Amino acid sequence: MEYAKNILETIGNTPLVKLNKLTAELPCLVLAKYETFNPGNSTKDRMALKMIEDAEADGRLKPGGTIIEGTSGNTGMGLALAAIVKGYKCIFVISDKQSKEKTDVLRAHGAEVIVCPTDVEPTDPRSYYSVSKRLGEEIPNSWYVNQYDNPSNAKAHYESTGPEIWKQTDGKVTHFVVGVGTGGTISGVGKYLKEQNPNVKVWGIDTYGSVFKKYHETGIFDENEIYPYVTEGIGEDILPKNVDFDIIDGFTKVTDKDAAVYTQKLAKEEGMFLGNSAGAAIKGLLQLKDEFKEDDVVVVLFHDHGSRYVGKMYNNDWMKKMGYIE
Ligand code: PMP
Repeated sequence: MEYAKNILETIGNTPLVKLNKLTAELPCLVLAKYETFNPGNSTKDRMALKMIEDAEADGRLKPGGTIIEGTSGNTGMGLALAAIVKGYKCIFVISDKQSKEKTDVLRAHGAEVIVCPTDVEPTDPRSYYSVSKRLGEEIPNSWYVNQYDNPSNAKAHYESTGPEIWKQTDGKVTHFVVGVGTGGTISGVGKYLKEQNPNVKVWGIDTYGSVFKKYHETGIFDENEIYPYVTEGIGEDILPKNVDFDIIDGFTKVTDKDAAVYTQKLAKEEGMFLGNSAGAAIKGLLQLKDEFKEDDVVVVLFHDHGSRYVGKMYNNDWMKKMGYIE
């Protein structure tokens, strides 16, 4: 018999899938690391499990403990799955711009979810950063995960996602393109790939309203770059410790409209029903077309599944209301 001993054993070993229509104008091979095949439907399952295992190993997380995190949903889903199997409680603090589907799914997995306002400073006591930190201090036998600064986040991708991409491309990968939020995915995968071949180029996808691109290019944390945006999962108004700016060759920014329109295009033209950051990632990759030559093998990572966006990017009334389609 061949079976996984629990759902956590099905994390990782996701397929690499060739893009065909959307990338037809490019001279190179473009392959998608298709992370929705993880049991929680996103790449974040990998880092959620790794953060828990590392916290168990050094005693930060004890039997019967409560896991607390400020999460936009995918990390919460990964943490919730691991908590169910391993016997922990979960409290998630989420910002009110996140889709309702994400909150419903977390509650369906037994987690408590607290919704906080988006349009306040990170230092404001109502922000989801502040609330999650405070709960971590107040609730006994609790552990505040902090995916932004927790080194196990990038380490998970260094130990699993990076080696998988290297092996699946037979060491031929020349570029890695991915949306950046906490930075765990780009930093872990990018570090591993560059250790195998220092010529691999690593590109981050950023949003308008986020600080990453300007900071990478100038070293200046420019508050004028910060404003509310619609794109989910990528961009930040802080500099998480998990973003390793030294291993990133460059950033390109994608508009909210383009990210939404390309999310729909991935479904319609490639049969890839994916989340909003996948739309941003593929549009950003197309913006970089002058970087790619004929024999290049470009890997783009798609973080999460389309089901979490049916009320938004996959709803044409919403798309019209936003002015993204006619
Ligand atoms: N896309 C989605 C949908 C996400 O949830 C996240 C995590 N915030 C990202 C992209 C960015 O990944 P990372 O945090 O590893 O930079």
